[in-house]
Amino acid sequence: MAFQAPRGTTDLLPPQAHALDRIQRIACSVFGLYGYGLIETPAFEQLDVFVRGIGQDTDVVGKEMFHVLSPGALAKQAEGAPLRPDDVLALRPEQTASVARAAVQHGLVPPDGATVKLWYRGTMFRAERPQKGRLREFHQVGAECLGAAGPSADAEAVVMLMHFFEECGIPRGALRLLLNSMGDAACRPAYRSQVRAFILDHAADLCPECVRRADTNPLRAFDCKNEGCRQVLADAPRITDLLCDDCAAHYASVKALLDAARVPYEEDPRLVRGLDYYTRTVFEVQADAGLGSQNALGGGGRYDGLIQEFGGRPTPGLGFAVGLERVQLVLEATGNAPDARPVPAAYLAAVDEDARPVVFALAQELRAAGLAAELDHQGRSLKSQFKQADRSGAPVVLVVGPDERAAGAARMRHMGTHEERTVALDAVVDAVKGECTATQEGDQDR
Ligand SMILES: [Zn+2]
Ligand SMILES: [Zn+2]
Repeated sequence: MAFQAPRGTTDLLPPQAHALDRIQRIACSVFGLYGYGLIETPAFEQLDVFVRGIGQDTDVVGKEMFHVLSPGALAKQAEGAPLRPDDVLALRPEQTASVARAAVQHGLVPPDGATVKLWYRGTMFRAERPQKGRLREFHQVGAECLGAAGPSADAEAVVMLMHFFEECGIPRGALRLLLNSMGDAACRPAYRSQVRAFILDHAADLCPECVRRADTNPLRAFDCKNEGCRQVLADAPRITDLLCDDCAAHYASVKALLDAARVPYEEDPRLVRGLDYYTRTVFEVQADAGLGSQNALGGGGRYDGLIQEFGGRPTPGLGFAVGLERVQLVLEATGNAPDARPVPAAYLAAVDEDARPVVFALAQELRAAGLAAELDHQGRSLKSQFKQADRSGAPVVLVVGPDERAAGAARMRHMGTHEERTVALDAVVDAVKGECTATQEGDQDR
């Protein structure tokens, strides 16, 4: 039987892998403008990191995590011996809990109240039913800002997220930024019990899962995909009507700062992000093009209690994560995906065997000058080398034969216009550079 990649995973071949790499580089440069430093955490953690950080009664922890046992765990289980925390692991379904764990473990947030800004990139794992825009191993970039309680930190993170999408090439008009406040420990309990009462009053019209949630986590009912439930819940109490004074003032400031930065948003009182740790500001960016029902590109919010969950000092925090496969789907659907295929600046063709060492050395000279160069390794005829050159997309071909060798030169053929001229070998790098600049300017004119 032929082997295949596991269900819900995908091999990223050169065009797709380059496309994701491009998005990660954009994240690196944009997030750097806002002072974020890169953090890498392990792809697996002790299971309890995610249970603690995300919440037991979430789909992510309850249904979607890949559990990993240490090599000795099965034997210990068979003997009835106790398992240690390092025996029971899980592949990370998201990275915020890992970053919070790392921040506490390494004491990253200083007691003087300074802000620590971290961004990450990597693959996450969720055992969901695979569908478009939803894989079991997928790529995210995300950012976490720890130590800042003020509303400008929330607004800055949202602005940075939208800046990132813009740099990726997604038109602002293709995106919808949804904003809400989820309140805090002072005002959310009252809201939760109002929603609980609402669910129980409408139990006959809601799915069993939503009714069950009334007692475990009523706000999660807003995440129900059932259309009937959504219609009923449209009339549920709104958190924004019940925010305490502090939460209401915080929310108003976030909105005023987004207005000042000219970042358009829609308030959505039904937006309750599916994880337990959020407090106050939550946001989500959606796109209609290319994503179908999985239309969220990314989102996040404030989580002022999370660091304490991991045994740290009370520390405000907030962050977001973005699904890179979804960003790429939107770029493709809106016709904004750049060609990620690597194109050489020049293809080098040898007329005869004696020319091969000359073009080999010339190719190396071009590469040393930062110009991608390609040449034949299969002893092909000149005609067939030209075919390869054409296929490669190189704007120019450099041909070396007996005449050129005698003259210490190469013939440079422009593939678009078929014009040819002779260039001295020591002038080839500058000539190819000139052609690249001319091609780029031509692209901009189009
Ligand atoms: Zn439901
Ligand atoms: Zn409040």
